[in-house]
Amino acid sequence: MLLHWHRRDLRATDNVALARAADECAVLPVFVFDDDVLAHASPPRVAFMLDALAELRRWYRERGGDLRLARGDPADVLVEAAEARDADGIYWNRDYSGLAQRRDERVAGALDAAGLTHERFHDALLHEPGSVTTNDGDPYSVYSYFARKWRDREKEAPYDAPDGDALADVRGDPLPSLADLGFDEPEAEVESAGMDVARERLDAFCDGPIYEYAERRDYPADGCTSRLSAHLKWGTIGIRATYAATEDAMDRAGSDAAREAVEAFRGQLAWREFYAHVLYFDPDVVTRNYRDYENEIDWRDDEGERRAWKDGRTGYPVVDAGMRQLREEGYVHNRVRMIVASFLTKDLLADWREGYDWFRERLVDHDTANDNGGWQWAASTGTDAQPYFRIFNPWTQGERYDPDAEYVREYVPELAGATPDEIHSWHELDPDERESVAPDYPAPIVDHGERRERALATFERARGGN
Ligand code: FAD
Repeated sequence: MLLHWHRRDLRATDNVALARAADECAVLPVFVFDDDVLAHASPPRVAFMLDALAELRRWYRERGGDLRLARGDPADVLVEAAEARDADGIYWNRDYSGLAQRRDERVAGALDAAGLTHERFHDALLHEPGSVTTNDGDPYSVYSYFARKWRDREKEAPYDAPDGDALADVRGDPLPSLADLGFDEPEAEVESAGMDVARERLDAFCDGPIYEYAERRDYPADGCTSRLSAHLKWGTIGIRATYAATEDAMDRAGSDAAREAVEAFRGQLAWREFYAHVLYFDPDVVTRNYRDYENEIDWRDDEGERRAWKDGRTGYPVVDAGMRQLREEGYVHNRVRMIVASFLTKDLLADWREGYDWFRERLVDHDTANDNGGWQWAASTGTDAQPYFRIFNPWTQGERYDPDAEYVREYVPELAGATPDEIHSWHELDPDERESVAPDYPAPIVDHGERRERALATFERARGGN
């Protein structure tokens, strides 16, 4: 018998390590509540994870198996679980963050010491780190070059789920609650997790919205993106299955525009892999700027401004809508993530790590590589980042991508009665006008024009200018 250690792969289908183990012998699936991992987790993510585990356990039970649950240091509890069942060893899928790699080395050492075999598989990405490199064998630091090679490489087909008769006959343990794990209920309404939800979402997306993706994906009110991020993060859908669905969509595409839209969606999957590779080869970017300037960037530490940003009370409607969506749903649309991140790091000149920490606490889909990549992109410190002199104007961004202010009015009820014009020119209204349109909504806390100049000067100094 082999144990399969589930981590960020909370699914039975299209799971490489699980499929390989089931090809060899009976499999006992295990999940470990690892205190080191929980220390970096937050209520919305743990709520999603527990929901996914409940469904995974149901899946195994319906087929005569079960999911063993344990809590503690995986290096101890996995050895105990394997020895208790007289298992030969443990298979698992790789996780590419620095923290996970260090833990996995420790677990591998403990298994070696106990005389248990172990094997790790590439599963989370279509192309594992080290497989898409420059001609000199170096990791790419420019996305477009990476993406070109990534696209041209052959993709693996999805793996089948194990048959019921490959599952070890065991009874699992009760699933802990959030409180058992030491977490409060999340403030956000966390979306449902699980393999079925993920599959339905993927199918619905590939049935229609994917064909408008290139044109509409930047409009937060449209909802035409896949909303798969939390599922890809937790592995309730496999990446090969996701890609295969895009191949079917490509076959059904009836025009060049539709084919380009499918390709544009794949381009975002490539961003996900690009950032995972960046993190793998440079795990310290979690806390360090990827790109060094000659001098330190003179980040400002204004608690009041940061608080207004977190609370969605900056007086910039699209920024506030994004920050409230984060609080309410544990999710923010990508265009809006870019806007709020630019606002924090350029208009408020707050260190990107402040924003990253807040997102890590609040996002259900928080993924170290993508979150870090997104923040360092916006802060102009990342690999292939937004150039420091191209600073988003939140007023024009709001007007362009939410022209009817539908998104703003959905998340900022104080502005529900305001017209799109009033919302997009909120900074130009005089105090009496603002008072009569939306008395409870704040005036802008800073002047974008002035803050833009300050950010440019700050980055110029960081580059070595005066
Ligand atoms: P879709 O547009 O449908 O894209 C499909 C999938 O591609 C996503 O689910 C995601 O896995 C991947 N993807 C899409 N855009 C990106 C991108 N720019 N970078 C990397 N992968 C991408 N994404 C996360 O998954 N977790 C994060 O913690 C995260 N933090 C971010 C922080 C900032 C400041 C920014 C600017 C972006 C961040 N992103 C993050 C990327 C992106 O915003 C989300 O992946 C996307 O909004 C999720 O919605 P979706 O599933 O509908 O995306």
